[in-house]
Amino acid sequence: MVEEQLRLRGIANERVLAAMRAVPRELFVPPELRGRAYDDAALPIGEGQTISQPYMVARICEELDLHGGERVLDVGTGSGYQAAVLSQLAGDVHSIERIESLAAEAGERLAPFGVHVHVGDGTRGLPEHAPFAAVAVAAAAPHLPETLYEQLELRGRLVVPIGSRREQLLQVIVRSPEGPAVLRTVPCRFVPLVGEGGFRA
Ligand code: SAM
Repeated sequence: MVEEQLRLRGIANERVLAAMRAVPRELFVPPELRGRAYDDAALPIGEGQTISQPYMVARICEELDLHGGERVLDVGTGSGYQAAVLSQLAGDVHSIERIESLAAEAGERLAPFGVHVHVGDGTRGLPEHAPFAAVAVAAAAPHLPETLYEQLELRGRLVVPIGSRREQLLQVIVRSPEGPAVLRTVPCRFVPLVGEGGFRA
């Protein structure tokens, strides 16, 4: 997975590649799909949601440009896979999921990784733990989630898929004194971000 799906496709950050190697994806997929855990694809995890494709997880981590020690917010815990990978790259990871049953399952899986799991509308962020050096959103937003941008440190990075329910561009947004600076974008497809700053349920 690391060599063929990630390095050959341009993921070059060795810390990210090591983190992807360190976290066993099979722990985060339903038991009946374990044989497909290293497929180059998103997979169903129940409740109409998915565990993200390994490439997108690595790409988001690379775009966050983490060096270790940062406080990070992961919006859309899902299976917990992205949060587990982030825990290898940053100091303090908070992850928020709106669907209670997914948050509960992910909370158990993420305990050994030291990730703090919260239940709620991630479009509101976690003001009690802000500011964050980085925010990763693993669901598609219709526009820049302002509240999440406001919870970034100066020069902090927000990586979020923005577009329609069907297709989006993964945007890398840096908080600057002049306002949001968009660094670069790649096409992607995520499930919708549902909530106050996202799509309607
Ligand atoms: N990173 C996850 C993983 O690796 O398993 C992928 C999760 S899936 C693509 C997106 C998740 O975002 C879903 O579990 C969905 O319920 C959650 N979600 C959607 N809107 C949300 C919101 N407003 N707040 C928190 N979670 C949300």
